[in-house]
Amino acid sequence: MREEIKNKILSGDFGEVLLNEELKKYTTMHIGGPADILIMPETEDQLTGLVKLLKGEDTPLTFIGRGSNLLIRDKGIRGVVVVLRENYSKIKVEGNLVIAQAGAALRDAAIASFENSLTGMEAVSGIPGSVGGGVIMNAGAYGTEMKDIIKNVKTMDKDGNIKVYTNEEMDFSYRHSLAGEKDLIVLEASFELKEGDREKIYEAFEGFDYKRSSRQPLDRYSAGSTFKRPEGYFASKLIDEAGLRGFTINQAQVSEKHTGFLINIENSTCENMLELIKEVQKIIMDKYSVKLEREVKLIGEE
Ligand SMILES: Cc1cc2nc3c(=O)[nH]c(=O)nc-3n(C[C@H](O)[C@H](O)[C@H](O)COP(=O)(O)OP(=O)(O)OC[C@H]3O[C@@H](n4cnc5c(N)ncnc54)[C@H](O)[C@@H]3O)c2cc1C
Repeated sequence: MREEIKNKILSGDFGEVLLNEELKKYTTMHIGGPADILIMPETEDQLTGLVKLLKGEDTPLTFIGRGSNLLIRDKGIRGVVVVLRENYSKIKVEGNLVIAQAGAALRDAAIASFENSLTGMEAVSGIPGSVGGGVIMNAGAYGTEMKDIIKNVKTMDKDGNIKVYTNEEMDFSYRHSLAGEKDLIVLEASFELKEGDREKIYEAFEGFDYKRSSRQPLDRYSAGSTFKRPEGYFASKLIDEAGLRGFTINQAQVSEKHTGFLINIENSTCENMLELIKEVQKIIMDKYSVKLEREVKLIGEE
């Protein structure tokens, strides 16, 4: 990064700026080395200013939401890392629309829908990600994906151009969106919901929460399902049948509770976690000729 750019970031108005910040603090997996510069903008103007400052520079610009689908390498991330979570998380409700900034927790957007007797977000209310990360991944659970409830998405490209895409234009499919494909920055999303019964919405929340807490190792460091669902199979079932429940490499382990989750016991390195991922993939390929594709995104310097 050019010294001039670094100085402009340090002296400018882009939100909180941290140097050499350990990224493990920003991921649910608790893995990841330092970011050269980590920035937490609070306004669209700060974000636009930053993106425009870096336009045409060779400084990499990486976005992180709630860090619940990320595996960050041990050497960390070079350049600028922008974190959009509590610092960028306003939510408003207009009629049957819940409009949330990218950093808002999906859970909080779902709570806002409940408070306004709007139904549609119950099934995704337990996904521990942000609205931005949800859009990028087309996150989904128990039969509802972002594509079923999003009306439109406000984005910015890396040149600082802002554009609103409709649901159709977002081209959502299983764990895919146009925003992810084109490396767009998600600024805000609106969820189009239906009028519902508050009590029923609450009951649904409780039901889905119970399903999650009884089946998933929510008290452990993980990034959720490590692998995508292979066509015609369930990754967790294959891993279990292959005898890999509890299979451990140093501090990286196949969860005893849910074999689709690979967990960091306490202080696993990214390298060990990658070793475990590769070993599981190899065993499943050898045993069942099924390719397990990683759902968790791997980023950072090799
Ligand atoms: C216990 C547990 C349970 C889970 N259950 C589910 C589940 O049921 N269903 C499901 O789909 N997922 C699940 N996940 C995975 C994860 O929560 C989702 O993928 C979620 O959508 C990721 O959001 P995030 O904000 O954490 O994104 P991050 O992990 O921070 O980032 C994911 C990707 O999105 C990009 N990104 C994030 N925010 C932005 C933004 N504003 N603009 C541009 N790019 C951005 C990042 O660069 C990265 O490529 C689970 C994870 C855990 C830990």
